[in-house]
Amino acid sequence: MAIHFIPNDPRAGRAAPPLRRQAKRPEPAEGHAGFSYQRPPPEGVAAPGTPQFLFWQVRDAALAALRAWEACAGPHTRWQGRRTRLPLRPDEGEDLNAFYDRATVSFFHQEVAPGRVVYAGASTDVVAHEVGHGLLDSVRADLWDITFLEVGAFHEAFGDCLGILTALEDRATRVALLAQAPTLRKRNFVESFAEELAWGIGRAIPGHNAAEPRHAHNRFHFQIPSSLPADGPPGALINEVHSFAMLFTGCFWDLIAGLYARATTPGPAALRTAARRAGKLLIAGARAAVVTPRFFLSVGRAMAQADLALHRGRHLDTLAAAFAGHGLVLGPVAAGGGRARGAALPAAAPGPLQPVPLTGLHPQLEGVVVLAPTVRAAGPAGARGAPPGSDEDTAAEVQAFVAGLLARRRIALAPPGARGAAVAPRHDHTTHEVRELRGQRRLVRKRFLCACHAGPGLFSAR
Ligand SMILES: [Zn+2]
Repeated sequence: MAIHFIPNDPRAGRAAPPLRRQAKRPEPAEGHAGFSYQRPPPEGVAAPGTPQFLFWQVRDAALAALRAWEACAGPHTRWQGRRTRLPLRPDEGEDLNAFYDRATVSFFHQEVAPGRVVYAGASTDVVAHEVGHGLLDSVRADLWDITFLEVGAFHEAFGDCLGILTALEDRATRVALLAQAPTLRKRNFVESFAEELAWGIGRAIPGHNAAEPRHAHNRFHFQIPSSLPADGPPGALINEVHSFAMLFTGCFWDLIAGLYARATTPGPAALRTAARRAGKLLIAGARAAVVTPRFFLSVGRAMAQADLALHRGRHLDTLAAAFAGHGLVLGPVAAGGGRARGAALPAAAPGPLQPVPLTGLHPQLEGVVVLAPTVRAAGPAGARGAPPGSDEDTAAEVQAFVAGLLARRRIALAPPGARGAAVAPRHDHTTHEVRELRGQRRLVRKRFLCACHAGPGLFSAR
């Protein structure tokens, strides 16, 4: 029996392959990790907007994302926490949102205009992005609680990169993409991300930064994130994880375009080879990158090390050019960094973590710490008055990021007078909370959230 499947995004435009009928994907083979489902509806060709369509759409998109990862990284056998099944929730109710919180991958829906309902799970872009958080978490669980903006932004970028890789595993998509953008060096439906969700955000909050789809084909140039504005018009680069992610995704897109440009026989097959090669370097780099405030550069350098180890550095020029185009200079790569040719790169060892106090940011964060890897000793006066240029000052990075979370109401704080954190479970758009751990009150992550619009209550029923 067949199902209906949207290979990209419901609003990807006329250049993209439309809704199609296809056989459902098989479940992952024995020994591979996969997803679990609640009460799956019967298989069949169902109309978009029905629960039956949404279930099979989300399932196939999630399995396609897993397949794209495996095409680059080999068998996926365990999620974070050594689990073989990750619960997939196609529709958890009303919200303009989707998230990965380690317990589930969850999607929501929202009526943004009369009769116009946005289902986050109807977009293969969005599903692949959320699954991407889960896959990255399965190999780099240590990134979860790191409070550096670039680490959070890399998690978001990784989701978008997996969305690109998922799209490029689909032959009809590669054919359509090469018709629209033969060298990939222009705007197109693959580098444009989650078009329908962005449209929905624009309907709900006109002028919001996330009302423009994120673009991997971009000319953004690296700046220290905290030097960027906290907010900006649709599509502008701002000091926020989803927006800042575009800088890294831009490097990744340019790497694919650069590798494809070197193909002797251009065409859909060569494009898949280029995408897989870039994906392999990305995943190897993500596994090995050392956590520092300048994490984009750290991943780029680990990708260069991986290319040296895996391909004798054959793609170093293309890689360096892709990053340099966005202001990230990878510099010389030492040959000793990788292991013997062809061997898997070792995973990065977690650096020593030190408690960084969150003093002076919010009354409820007094006495609360985050654990952060210290790259260089923090300045003596604690950090907040750190001199310009000390961009690797851990404490300053942490405090800037937490201040941004507070400004966006991303931290679950107790209402005045209440004890303990309390947030309405519905429309909970927080990503962090304070937990008592080993005698310390620590700020920790709850989830990666797709909704980059502001706080709870905004989308409550009219
Ligand atoms: Zn995300």
